Amino acid sequence: MLHESVRRIGVFGGTFDPPHLGHLVAASEATFRCGLDEVVFVPTGDPWQKHHLDVTRASGRLAMTRLAVGSDPLFRISTCDIDRDGPTYAIDTVADVRAEYDHEVDLYFILGADSLENLHTWHRVEELCKAVKFIALNRPGYSRKDVDTSFGVDVQFIDMPAVDVSSTECRQRVRDGEPVRYLLPRPVGEYIAEHALYRD
Ligand code: ATP
Repeated sequence: MLHESVRRIGVFGGTFDPPHLGHLVAASEATFRCGLDEVVFVPTGDPWQKHHLDVTRASGRLAMTRLAVGSDPLFRISTCDIDRDGPTYAIDTVADVRAEYDHEVDLYFILGADSLENLHTWHRVEELCKAVKFIALNRPGYSRKDVDTSFGVDVQFIDMPAVDVSSTECRQRVRDGEPVRYLLPRPVGEYIAEHALYRD
């Protein structure tokens, strides 16, 4: 009997406010280096780590993420974090993404080196580490720190071509009337202009 090999799925959670080239290069590089079959972009619902900040409504962030991903056959979007009430926790994200497949999958949680720094504070992190492997990408300004592996984290580091872009910087540039061309996919820039996002 033929057994299909288990598909390898990247789970890429983010606020994506807005999605930028750093996100796309990170997802692409993770796909290539780790032999992923696809990457699922999961825009966060209520970001518990950023609840003190002004975050664009989920519908807008989802629309921009859809525009950023476009028709790339290796990328898709899950709305599971937006559809679920309450704060977004990665442990729920991976359970919901897994449930979107009707066959067995191996999940790889993709994150930047900055997010890895505080992994030990994540909700039910020990369970999360049993459910997924992590793919961590370098990010300018963040060194590859030793990760506390005492709770059994399996993390593969990938050196992607450094992209020194953040959503914070993009929002600030829009606010200051500076160009974001080529820092964001063009349709995302158009959406921001059309909806007058990030202007005080
Ligand atoms: P903000 O500036 O608002 O904090 P951000 O640019 O960090 O946003 P997020 O949506 O919070 O974007 O990031 C989602 C994930 O993508 C995180 O794991 C983050 O570390 C990673 N990431 C974001 N930008 C980059 C980048 N330029 N290079 C590598 N990883 C990145």
